Formats: sequence, C-alpha cells, structure tokens
Amino acid sequence: MKWIDFEKPKSIDEAVKLLSGSSGNARAMAGGTDLIVMLRVGHPRVNPDVVVDVKSIPELNELSYDSDKGLTIGAAVECYKIYNDEDVKKHYPAILDSATLIGGTQIQGRASFGGNLCNAAPSGDAIPNLIAHRAVATIAGPNGTRQLPVEEVCTGPGQTSIGSDELLVSINLPSNGQDFGANYIRFIPRNEMDIAVAGAGVSVTVAGGKFTSGRVCLASVAPTPLFVKEAGDTLVGKPVGEEAIQDAANLAKEASKPISDMRGTAEYRKHLCEVLTRRALNTAVERAQGS
Ligand SMILES: Cc1cc2nc3c(=O)[nH]c(=O)nc-3n(C[C@H](O)[C@H](O)[C@H](O)COP(=O)(O)OP(=O)(O)OC[C@H]3O[C@@H](n4cnc5c(N)ncnc54)[C@H](O)[C@@H]3O)c2cc1C
Repeated sequence: MKWIDFEKPKSIDEAVKLLSGSSGNARAMAGGTDLIVMLRVGHPRVNPDVVVDVKSIPELNELSYDSDKGLTIGAAVECYKIYNDEDVKKHYPAILDSATLIGGTQIQGRASFGGNLCNAAPSGDAIPNLIAHRAVATIAGPNGTRQLPVEEVCTGPGQTSIGSDELLVSINLPSNGQDFGANYIRFIPRNEMDIAVAGAGVSVTVAGGKFTSGRVCLASVAPTPLFVKEAGDTLVGKPVGEEAIQDAANLAKEASKPISDMRGTAEYRKHLCEVLTRRALNTAVERAQGS
C-alpha cells in the first residue's frame, strides 16, 4: 500500500480546499465502508494521495426535519442514526427500508447515505429509495454550492457528476402529505450482507381512489440506479389497483438493462424487476392509505 495523507477538516471550505488543491488526487471519506475496502484491495479506480475524512464537518452530520423544508440528511450521517431518528420514523418510514438493510449492525454504525450515493454502485440500496422520495443533493465546490436531483448524480458504475474538487454536503427529501407512501425492496440470495440481484424503490401519492403521482427506480439492472420515469407516470390518473400497478411493473421490466453475472442472468433480473416493482408499489399504496 502506498503512502496516503490523512486530513480531517472541520469546515466545508477547508474540505473543498483540500479536494481542489490536490489535482484530483484527494478522496472524501465518510464511513469508509466502501473506500477503505477499495484502498485495501488496490482498486484501480481509487488511488488517492490524500484521504479527506469529512465526519467532523457539522453540516455533513446534520439530520433535521422541518415541515416546510423536509428532511435533511447530512452526507456523513450513519445509517443507525437515520433509522433511530423519530422524525424519519414518523415522516419518512420507507427510508428505514434502506437504512436497516445496508450491511449489518457494524456497517450501519459507519455507513452513510452520502457514501452510498457517491460510491455510485448500481446496487446501492439507498439510491433508488432517495430517487423515489424526489431527493436533491447539495454539493459544495470551489465555485460555491449547487443542487442536483439525486437521479442525476450517478453517471456510471462508481462514477458521479460530483467533481473531484467537490463535496456532497447533504441530501434533502421534500415534505410529503398523508397521501404519500413509498417502499424499497431488493432480492438477494441470502438474508444478510449481500449485493442486490435487483431492487426497486417506489413512491406514490393517492387521492380519491386514484394515483396522483408515482416514481419507480430500480437497482442492479443497469450501469447506474435506473430511474424509470414512465413507470411512475403511467400510474397518474388511474384508479388505485392491480391493473395500474401491473402496467407500471411491466414498464419497469421493459426499461431494465441488466447483465448476466454470478448473481443471476439478465432474463432472471428482468423478471425480478416486474415482481419487485409490483410488490413495492403494493406496499407503497398500503402505506399511503395508512393500512
Ligand atoms: C460488509 C459490507 C456490507 C455492505 N452491505 C451493503 C448493502 O447491503 N447495501 C449497500 O448498498 N451497500 C453495502 N455496502 C457498501 C457500503 O457500506 C455502502 O455503500 C455505504 O453506504 C457507504 O457509505 P460510507 O459512508 O462508508 O462511504 P465511504 O466508504 O466513506 O465513501 C464511499 C465513496 O463515496 C465517496 N464519498 C464519501 N463521502 C463523500 C462526500 N461527502 N462527498 C463526495 N464523495 C464522498 C468516497 O470518496 C468513496 O468513493 C457494504 C459494505 C460492506 C463492507
């Protein structure tokens, strides 16, 4: 292993200076549950001269709820804090679907949603759920701060639209009404500590027996988490029921572009997209209707 400097900035400005001052060779670290593993195995995509530990920056540790602004999850907030938070439990119960299944208890003590997003694995279990919740990323860089919908962050396996001189500060989830429900589920061959063969994160709003909105995002079936806009859109205006849900599930299956690997064939993954989208939508509807 080569020599790597370790820095622990206390502010966003300091972190951005470190990231932008090292010609692309500095790497932010939150929980390190992806980064340290990659450094140890000498992953070709990760070869920093400087590791910038962002866990001492106050804004990256914020976890707050406001009925107007929604939920702010600082980029370094660990999963265990997310799933133990009373506001998250009350206003964003479906976020627990992801926070409780990333790794096991030890991993959840370090792993963050921010790291999950910036790692940009097609199988990242937080990402489809964030996209279903219409989440927006706040990113700081040398030229200030910008906002980006989460569905525009991942650009390829391990690649994002966040520059090497930029820092993910937080993820904001808008407030939802009583008529909102969401769900994230994945299929894995065993119950713990594995990568999704396929996953589906969905959300709906319902009023007067009809869908008023829908969002569907798939995991592990494309080079990035796959936001299937048409699958959510097809629900809108249709009566809440099996027919509309099946239409959305079929569109999700059609949109998926899986590969075959040791976890499953492309055909099997396509089948899973339909099944998981349908099941997740049924649970989201139940949650939206408060049952
Ligand atoms: C045993 C084990 C089990 C796991 N199980 C799962 C699982 O079930 N589901 C799943 O999705 N993942 C799983 N993972 C992967 C990992 O735990 C998650 O992706 C986790 O959410 C990463 O968060 P982190 O804070 O540890 O990220 P880190 O490792 O700190 O960072 C990940 C990447 O994001 C970058 N980064 C981090 N923070 C920032 C920031 N603020 N701004 C810009 N870039 C940043 C880093 O440079 C790095 O490239 C598992 C890992 C292990 C070791």
